[in-house]
Amino acid sequence: MLQDKFGRRFHYLRLSITDVCNFSCEYCLPDGYQCDTDRDFLSLEEITHIASAFAQLGTSKIRITGGEPSLRKDLPQVIQACANTQGIKHVAMTTNGYKLPDHIDSWVEAGLTSMNISIDSLDPRMFASITGHDKLDVILRGIDRAIELGITVKVNAVLMRHFNQGELKTFLNWLKTTPLTLRFIELMQTGDNQLFFDKNHTSGQPIKDQLIADGWQQIVRDKTAGPAQEFSHPDYQGRIGLIMPYSKDFCATCNRLRISALGKLHLCLFSDQGLDIRQFIADGDTQRLQDELSTLLGDKKSTHFLHDGYTGATKHLAMLGG
Ligand code: SAM
Ligand code: SF4
Repeated sequence: MLQDKFGRRFHYLRLSITDVCNFSCEYCLPDGYQCDTDRDFLSLEEITHIASAFAQLGTSKIRITGGEPSLRKDLPQVIQACANTQGIKHVAMTTNGYKLPDHIDSWVEAGLTSMNISIDSLDPRMFASITGHDKLDVILRGIDRAIELGITVKVNAVLMRHFNQGELKTFLNWLKTTPLTLRFIELMQTGDNQLFFDKNHTSGQPIKDQLIADGWQQIVRDKTAGPAQEFSHPDYQGRIGLIMPYSKDFCATCNRLRISALGKLHLCLFSDQGLDIRQFIADGDTQRLQDELSTLLGDKKSTHFLHDGYTGATKHLAMLGG
């Protein structure tokens, strides 16, 4: 099992397969994807090698992310390669949901077990103004189908003071009859979004206080479950959660490593740099790749330094997949 010097164990890999995105979310790519160079993204063969090397080191869950992962034409094959790897029990994906209705059946058939979909507002006009795309109805239709197919569905909403801060009631109404988990994520500062962050960052704590006052019970989660705090309520089919990266001890439960679409290992979402392991991925020598991963993990820091406004090499989260 991959373990760092602080005793944290890493059974969860977030694997970015592209940094291209078709949306232009205000906090991420407000001017849309800037295609500056030709990008040599990880091939299916390289992805298969990564999955098997990590699985042999105790990784049991892979999340496919981006950019927008559904823009890769070979996404079903990527899902299948991960799902067919011995030791990988969960294949998850994070998506903007744009391609859900037409493709969700084939992704589930390929082995997808859970999906996080980003919906920052349930008001179609607000949704369009945040993402640049009037696609809320399409995404909601895709979510219904994903629930029908029986996979675990979570919805991520980034909290923004001037956009969706007043929407708690609308989201709660939706959760009365919709069996999924909605998680509010506190807006994080990145290299590119400082002005937007300063205007829009708001803490999740008042929402947590409101939920508790309204009878929502915090769910005791497995030690390995990651940083979200989740709540349930007997009157609601859905659950609600909060991801508060600025809260104390957020990094103490870190259980994940990240690989960018260009084959760099990121020990933290906000580390100084990606560590180039592409040569070890490409040459197919699993032992060498594993030795390299174990050595590099020695440099993982105890925490991010977001509180000090330090965002490392991360210009925006489309670079790495969140
Ligand atoms: N394109 C896919 C999507 O939007 O779901 C996957 C990649 S996206 C970078 C992954 C997640 O990061 C999304 O839920 C998105 O809302 C979130 N995200 C992006 N930038 C963020 C920021 N600055 N602060 C907090 N969350 C952010
Ligand atoms: Fe694209 Fe996801 Fe970033 Fe939105 S958050 S611009 S959908 S990568």
